[in-house]
Amino acid sequence: MESVSIVRAEDVSKAVGDLYREINTHLRPDVLEALNEALAREESESAREILAALLENQDISREDGIPLCQDTGLAVAFVSMGDQVVLEGGTLQEAVDEGVRNAVAEQPLRASTVTDPLERRNAGDNTPAIVHLEHVRGDRLVIRLMAKGGGAENMGRLCMLTPGEGREGVVRVVVETVRDAGANACPPVIVGVGLGGDFETAPLLAKSALFRDMGQRHPEPALAELEAEILAQVNALGIGPQGFGGRTTALAVLIEQAPCHIASLPVAVNLACHSHRHGSVTLKGEQKRLAD
Ligand code: SF4
Repeated sequence: MESVSIVRAEDVSKAVGDLYREINTHLRPDVLEALNEALAREESESAREILAALLENQDISREDGIPLCQDTGLAVAFVSMGDQVVLEGGTLQEAVDEGVRNAVAEQPLRASTVTDPLERRNAGDNTPAIVHLEHVRGDRLVIRLMAKGGGAENMGRLCMLTPGEGREGVVRVVVETVRDAGANACPPVIVGVGLGGDFETAPLLAKSALFRDMGQRHPEPALAELEAEILAQVNALGIGPQGFGGRTTALAVLIEQAPCHIASLPVAVNLACHSHRHGSVTLKGEQKRLAD
């Protein structure tokens, strides 16, 4: 390696803070488009009213710069760090936490993190963020950030199927998960599915799938077909927007897969609510030549 790319921790904090505020106040174009398409298709009067209210809600958020929902979510970051990147002035966790802390104070955003799962002491600033790091080739730091609402997150599920249960078993697990979530996940939901990997990576695949643009079909035809089949079955459940009935229970099913053990078929489902908030930012540091 002839040079390194110096990324300052304070720049990471600034980028994360700006992104966390932005995603909490601006519904993504792909979600907006999916909601509008759902409204055009819906036949149920109550479902149409709720979809129209969600669209009006996001208009108000965008215009007034206020959060889309009172639950401003846990900050979850998936970070890809190029092998030439050197982070200067702090660790990645410190830098992301600082950005989240500043956004929560400045926006303000709701303090949604407790430091102890049983004592329930509120951290007051939504830290620590959840940070997942992968090392890749290159000179950039890419941060994908999600504000993950608790209602939808609570309804996630991991099932370790046997290979014999196959495609049919996968469809059953995903549809049952959405059915059992009912109104608790704040539908219409986006269904992230992780196939394969192992006990801890399948849920990561499911959450990672939720970062995909909903307008994109899966590049592998077999998985694109599986996504469409599950979406049709989920929408046939009749749960509808906010659980009041209708054909719009989910806006999309998004699958990520990975190799797995010959004896396993892990399936994880991670649901996102109608306030599906995520975005990304890319930082390219200052280039510095290494001494010979
Ligand atoms: S799950 Fe989503 S829509 Fe429901 S309360 Fe939480 S952030 Fe809001």
